[in-house]
Amino acid sequence: KYEDVVQTRRENLSKGNFPYYKENVMIHQGHKQWLWDTNGKRYLDLFAGIVTVSVGHCHPKVNAALEEQIKKLWHTTTIYHYPGIHEYTHKLLKKFPSKFGVVLYTNSGSEANDLAMYISRLYTGKFDIISLRNGYHGMSPYTMGITNLSTWKYNVPTGFGIHPTMNPDIFKGPWGGKQCRDSPIQALRDCSCEPGECQAGDNYSNQVQDILLYCAPKGGKVAAMIVESIQGVGGAVQYPKNFLKNSAKMVQSAGGLVISDEVQTGFGRTGSNYWGFENHEILPDIVTMAKGIGNGFPMAAVVTTKEIADVLGQAAYFNTFGGNPMACAVGSAVLDVIDEEKLQENCQVVGTYFLNELAKLRDEFEIIGDVRGKGLMIGLELVEDKKSKKPLNLDRVLNIFETSKNMGILVGRGGLYGNVFRIKPPMCITKEDVDFGVYVLREAIHKESK
Ligand code: PMP
Repeated sequence: KYEDVVQTRRENLSKGNFPYYKENVMIHQGHKQWLWDTNGKRYLDLFAGIVTVSVGHCHPKVNAALEEQIKKLWHTTTIYHYPGIHEYTHKLLKKFPSKFGVVLYTNSGSEANDLAMYISRLYTGKFDIISLRNGYHGMSPYTMGITNLSTWKYNVPTGFGIHPTMNPDIFKGPWGGKQCRDSPIQALRDCSCEPGECQAGDNYSNQVQDILLYCAPKGGKVAAMIVESIQGVGGAVQYPKNFLKNSAKMVQSAGGLVISDEVQTGFGRTGSNYWGFENHEILPDIVTMAKGIGNGFPMAAVVTTKEIADVLGQAAYFNTFGGNPMACAVGSAVLDVIDEEKLQENCQVVGTYFLNELAKLRDEFEIIGDVRGKGLMIGLELVEDKKSKKPLNLDRVLNIFETSKNMGILVGRGGLYGNVFRIKPPMCITKEDVDFGVYVLREAIHKESK
């Protein structure tokens, strides 16, 4: 019964697993971009289980791959050989530039980022990690230190050797400075430079340089910088042009590694490229991935070069479930579906359409401060008014959120103040779905604007 589940969540589950809605939904079935609750009501899923369901709920091809595997073998750990891990590893590596040659399997994004930090410290012999404010990299004790979202807001110490640097958010700027943007939607540009010519990125990367100098007068103590190419939980935050390119260059030339956290931005979601880092013309040393890699199956991976991975020859790392036969079967089917159904292209086409339709909405309502993103990695920021960019009162945000759910769409919420709607659907959605989603958002925002 609904009441029993609510009571269990309240009394027997973590307080951290807060229910999203005032009147929460109880989901029991899914197909592609659709979910059904226990009353048979259908929802368009615009959040994909926190950007996890990449190719669609219960995709028949992924289901079939898993069914076939579970009849043969669930588990052996990586102690023994099994064919699936061989096939999958090569298929995954084909998606990377040729310098990457090793895959290390884990079960979650937090574990993948833990391992990436561990490897970078071993490889460089250095200790410090640079991460961006407003970034999210996991909830293990290690990665909580580099997750500078609520830890930053509530001023919880972030861990030894961690240097959160400012968040170069092109909408607000860290302290309300003027920014311009280099996204398909230029309407809110408020500085006078030509599109693509803004120097803001250069200014922000100087912060990274400061950290390198401060830590390291002679070459650096910095083991790595970890970044999301678009911040996910932070609210689809995009950086000014050249910020990542300059910062990566500075870190790498000081002897540190660059870790690209592709947990949300990977597997074609940004449309223009398979990996988010490729949108910034950087070549990281380590790439971490989770969520979309398994379409909802718990699995994750770290991809790096042979030279870097070889440091694990002199240190212990073992993962009982990482790269298990079921995960390899699912992961392999997911890669096939993305290619066969041209889902990266779909993210580009439908994502751009979505952004443009939402930009129209932004021009209609004073309380939509910003619409941003790339492909199907979209954020819509609700504000008191466009000039102040102050976060919209949370009760009003929640009203819009609730109405949207009642009218049949599920979106995510994020950003430091919870006022950014995160729109990251399964990559198979269509333009008709977008029309429905935008229609619902227009109605919900209109109702709250009155
Ligand atoms: N990195 C990013 C960018 C994420 O969004 C998340 C999860 N929200 C993680 C890492 C952590 O992944 P997991 O919850 O699987 O540990």
